[in-house]
This record gives sequence, C-alpha cells and structure tokens, in this order.
Amino acid sequence: MVDAKAPATTMVARVIFLGPPGAGKGTQAERLAEWLRVPRISTGDMLREHIAQRTVIGRKAAEFMTDGHLVPDPVLIEMIADRVAADDCTRGYIFDGFPRTVPQAEALGTITPHGADDFLVFSVHVPQEVLIRRLVKRGREDDSEPIVRKRLETYDLATAPLVNWFQERGRLRRVDGDRDVDDVQRELRAAVEATR
Ligand code: ADP
Repeated sequence: MVDAKAPATTMVARVIFLGPPGAGKGTQAERLAEWLRVPRISTGDMLREHIAQRTVIGRKAAEFMTDGHLVPDPVLIEMIADRVAADDCTRGYIFDGFPRTVPQAEALGTITPHGADDFLVFSVHVPQEVLIRRLVKRGREDDSEPIVRKRLETYDLATAPLVNWFQERGRLRRVDGDRDVDDVQRELRAAVEATR
C-alpha cells in the first residue's frame, strides 16, 4: 500500500524526473502521474512513436537514438512546447526524460511563466552496476550492453550537470532509487504534498 488521498485537484503540478537510464523514472513517473491525475510525458516514448509513424521528427531522431546519443535540442524543445499546449496539460504534467541538457532546461522558461521555478525536480540515484544489470535485463532495442554504456556516458556528460543546475535554483529533491518501488513512490508523494 502506498499512501492515502490525492492532493486537491485545483493546483497545478509540474514535476521533472532526472536520473540515468534504468533508475526507474518511468515507473515512478507513471504512478505519480496517476495519483496527481496529470499526464506523464515521456520524451523517449514520444520519439519512439514518431519513429514508428515515420514523421519528420521521427526521421530526425532515429539515427541519434539507435546509437545512444541525444536527439538535438531544437527537436526536443519544439516537440515539448507542442505537447504541453494540449488540453490535458492545464493542471500540470510530469516530464520523464526532459530536460536532458542545459539548453533544454533553459527552454522551460518558454513553456511556463516562471521556468524552472514552476517545477519540482526529483533526481533519482542508483549505483552504476545496478543500472547496467537492470537495463540489459529489460532488453529494449537500445538496451544492449555497449549501447547501454553509451547512454550512461551520455547521461553523465549531458544530463548529470542538470542536477546542480536545478540544485542552484532550489528545485531539487534527491531520491534513493535503489529501494523498493513503493518506498520510493511514498517518498515522492510526501515531497509533492510538502510543496502544497
Ligand atoms: P532512457 O532514459 O532509458 O535512456 P528514454 O526512453 O527516456 O530512455 O530515451 C531513449 C532515447 O531517446 C535517448 O537515448 C535519446 O536518444 C532520446 N531522448 C529522449 N529524451 C531526450 C531528450 N530530452 N533530449 C535528447 N534526446 C532524448
């Protein structure tokens, strides 16, 4: 059992998950989104859908994704700006996989009135060897060991600096992701409640 009642529905909840591939962001983001009754916006899922549908974005993204590199910032920023303009985002949303670079984080200011200040940011920490074990077991197409290592390296180079970026802006909550899924979720919900 994770805990009791969902927070009041009138408040806008905007949440960002930071964390390396395999940290469990997707699972936690999905459950938190359900509880808050806001959409979870996974850029990885959106990009895979664009590739499957062979859209313009999909064609731009494919070559980067299969190698474990990041898709260029302008592509992501435009895709996200479009997505948060949809009706289901008026009460907030949970980003899973965005922002992943400093320029993407800076672009938050173009999609909400106060940029980073409008978000609660969870940084999920899991030891590297646990991540590799989890990812290789998961077995998605870009989950083979060499590509997993490349994605972890990309995370360290491009995305890990965002932990400090949000920390400096007072938005960051560190979470230990190497624990029971329910325990992690309970901590996230308590942190959301504490901001209300
Ligand atoms: P994971 O977090 O497990 O690496 P995702 O499903 O979130 O997986 O992302 C898969 C791939 O999609 C990434 O390796 C990257 O190529 C691309 N991608 C997703 N989000 C972004 C982003 N914000 N900026 C650039 N590329 C992205």
